[in-house]
Amino acid sequence: MHRRIFVPGVLAAASLLLAIPASAAGYAPGAPGIGDPYYPYYGNGGYDVSHYDLRLTYRPATDELEGTATIEARTTQDLSSLDLDFLLDVSEVRVDGAKAAFAASGQHELVITPKAPLAKGTPVTLVIRYRGVPSTKSAYGFSTWHRTPDGAVAADEPESAWWWFPSNDHPLDKATYDVSVAVPDGTQAISNGTLQSTVSKLGWTRYNWRSAKPQATYLTTLAIGKFDVTTGTSEGGVPVVNAYSADLGDNDGAARASVERTGELVDWLSGYFGPYPFSSAGGYVPNTTTGFALETQTRVYYSPRQFANGSNTSVVVHELAHQWYGDSVSLKGWKDIWINEGFARYAQWLWSEHEGEGTTRELADYVYASHPADDAFWTVKPGDPGPDDQFDLAVYDRGALAIQALRDEIGDDAFFAVLKGWPREHAYGNASVDDFRAYAERVSGKSLTALFDTWLFQPSKPAAATAAPAASLARTARPPAQPASWKSIEATNDVHGH
Ligand SMILES: [Zn+2]
Repeated sequence: MHRRIFVPGVLAAASLLLAIPASAAGYAPGAPGIGDPYYPYYGNGGYDVSHYDLRLTYRPATDELEGTATIEARTTQDLSSLDLDFLLDVSEVRVDGAKAAFAASGQHELVITPKAPLAKGTPVTLVIRYRGVPSTKSAYGFSTWHRTPDGAVAADEPESAWWWFPSNDHPLDKATYDVSVAVPDGTQAISNGTLQSTVSKLGWTRYNWRSAKPQATYLTTLAIGKFDVTTGTSEGGVPVVNAYSADLGDNDGAARASVERTGELVDWLSGYFGPYPFSSAGGYVPNTTTGFALETQTRVYYSPRQFANGSNTSVVVHELAHQWYGDSVSLKGWKDIWINEGFARYAQWLWSEHEGEGTTRELADYVYASHPADDAFWTVKPGDPGPDDQFDLAVYDRGALAIQALRDEIGDDAFFAVLKGWPREHAYGNASVDDFRAYAERVSGKSLTALFDTWLFQPSKPAAATAAPAASLARTARPPAQPASWKSIEATNDVHGH
């Protein structure tokens, strides 16, 4: 999520050179990308995955991962071959039970050519056997596999799957998951959803995790290490599973004092966003040296550093808000990142107001006044920031400011109806910034084209934050004071590795 290094043009050639059987005229290779202009080779064309079954074994001492991925999919075009995104070493591929040819291609493509071509609209079962040492693999010169002293973690955005399972790696193709991981006794394997069972045998323990609701590949996480796992149920009835590395040192207390409030905060957010969309909630804090947190579905990833200055409920609110805005309702393309980050940041503003540490109005005024018109902050367009600025501060702060401007424009009744209605309107699906504007217009009965253009799509500082603060600023001619919550909100900017 922090490095945008692309070498366009050279990646796709290999998959185009495969011979197509004479009997399969009209059948063509699936595209090596799903069609996202920010990331041309992320995801793939020609099929849609419904389920991933990952059966893995991991050795923490040597970082060796081996496994079998069984992928249930359906073709969306006549295919002579199809791609998955993957970096580890594949030993066998089967398509509907028959061995298939396969080859690595480009930066992270695995090209699979079945014995017989696949007709459009048919179900297909892919079995991929593989092994490898993830920490030795890179694409575009980077790795997002995080080694720890006692294991490893897969959590990053927009890419983390390539290092541990083959996938159609784009949020447009969400699927359900069973993640089963065997690790040496005394080590835990943490993943998304619900722990269905654990089985111990001959010195190994297998953890069986299930995500029964659609989940994007980048929100699928794996953590292996020595963890203390806590379980409970929120007052509102949401099961909670949290996990803390046994090796958090001085950050241990503050991490628990923050993440143990997950149930309370899920219930509080439900008041704004509607019922919690998944069967469990929680977070985990591994002993990584990273700085960010990530909204991995149902099981949020927190770097220990997020708690270096004491407890931080603001970051927990941010990541839990994503469970509605980003996870249940996922973006259609990476340009739609404002729907994730603007709303997660705005949830932090609501929490600040709830805690008496600054109202959303005060935070909006402060952001507006903090950046003079010639600040590069205003050149980032939250509605289409480009891949280099996808996680720029402006996507968060200008993004939340845009939401305050929307609230001022349509009034509190319509605004909070939109806030709660949107996750229901697109539950478990995908939606774009345009879809959001259309929805807000429908609920409010107002045309919002100009407002969205001003706040999300112009590379310049809007004339005034809103009518209200402009008036108050003119009266006082003094910049607004820094809200008490500001530092804890800003601390979550490490969320995306700045
Ligand atoms: Zn976020």
